[in-house]
Amino acid sequence: MALTWSRSIEWNAEEWRKVAACRDTELDLFFPIGTTGPAIEHIKAAKSVCTECEVKGPCLEFALVTNQESGVWGGTAEEERRQLRKIWLSRQAGQEQINQMSKLRLSNRKPIHGQEQLNGSRRRRLG
Ligand code: SF4
Repeated sequence: MALTWSRSIEWNAEEWRKVAACRDTELDLFFPIGTTGPAIEHIKAAKSVCTECEVKGPCLEFALVTNQESGVWGGTAEEERRQLRKIWLSRQAGQEQINQMSKLRLSNRKPIHGQEQLNGSRRRRLG
């Protein structure tokens, strides 16, 4: 099944990056090596920058959609984002199924006079 997604937030990667709170911070802070030792403090500091960031939502959505596995994005660390991405992917798959079922239902729809005939045959069967 093809996986598509509909954005909940309209973002333009170039636009939101212009106002990112991390724009002038050290890259190491947002891309620490590992998840233990000094990296823990870097992740914590990076997340505190994200807390003040006005494009936190678009940033996180971008990271989920484009599967950014490394670093801190939208106030989330790698493991948190892996969990969120699983949820996000299952919701996308569910939405895709709903869309396909809706299309199927619409394509199988009978014209109005056909609906009357269907109702008539139901009445006959019930009567
Ligand atoms: S949410 Fe965090 S990582 Fe994303 S742009 Fe803002 S400061 Fe940078």
